[in-house]
Amino acid sequence: MSLAVNIENLSVYYGQTPALTNVSLEVEQGEYLGLLGPNGGGKSTLLRTILGLVPVSSGTVRVFGDKPSKSRAHVGYVPQLNSIDRRFPITVFEVVLTGRMKKGISPFFRYSREDREIAEALLEKVGLRELKARRISELSGGQFQKMLIARALAVKPSLLLLDEPTASVDAASRDQIYSLIEELSRTMTIILVTHDLLAVSSKVHRLACLNGSLIYHGEPKLSQRIVSSLYGCEVDLLAHGLTDGGEKKHPGERGKND
Ligand code: ADP
Repeated sequence: MSLAVNIENLSVYYGQTPALTNVSLEVEQGEYLGLLGPNGGGKSTLLRTILGLVPVSSGTVRVFGDKPSKSRAHVGYVPQLNSIDRRFPITVFEVVLTGRMKKGISPFFRYSREDREIAEALLEKVGLRELKARRISELSGGQFQKMLIARALAVKPSLLLLDEPTASVDAASRDQIYSLIEELSRTMTIILVTHDLLAVSSKVHRLACLNGSLIYHGEPKLSQRIVSSLYGCEVDLLAHGLTDGGEKKHPGERGKND
């Protein structure tokens, strides 16, 4: 199967700060990958590298066989909620429409009728049709995330990147968002950053765990030792039935004492 994302020996620095060190990761077309890791582990940086928004210090990143800057039009992105100014005076519909904006547009760019129809259909799909004319400052966390998903889908992506789309979301919206992502995973490649191991482990095809380097990449079953090396603390996975107690070692995997 051909690859949606092929990352080889990737390192990314912000000035002197290493965010990613020697990460190699393949994501097949049609795969639904869960990306876990502690805060500061480099998850957002990895997504932003796939989007071509962060300079690569060393290594290579290919998206559908191309450089990220060339494949950008095929990638939808749901950024972290806290990276967005929610007071910006714009409506839900206008935000979703921005997903239809073409790169290199002229100053007199106008959305087509088709753009508007696509935006309408996506608002319906995520359950926000009634809130179309609402200012984004008046949305709940769950409504805001759904709007961001609709905007990302307006690109008509083949690859969808979601950065913690259930952060600041009530339980009902969280379930709706996971169901929607699962449905989308039947028609596109998905990389989902989440802390919600329990919710996604039964849904994703594979898991990758980042803590600066790639700690684990494989089936959505984690051993206690891998989670401990990820979070630096004991996490009761056995109670959730998420581990088979196995100790699969990935080539990039680090143990606590390594
Ligand atoms: P995560 O998404 O897993 O929380 P990030 O990718 O946001 O991790 O961050 C990885 C590392 O890079 C952290 O040490 C963070 O402080 C640093 N970092 C992230 N963004 C920037 C930035 N714009 N400038 C400088 N350092 C950054």
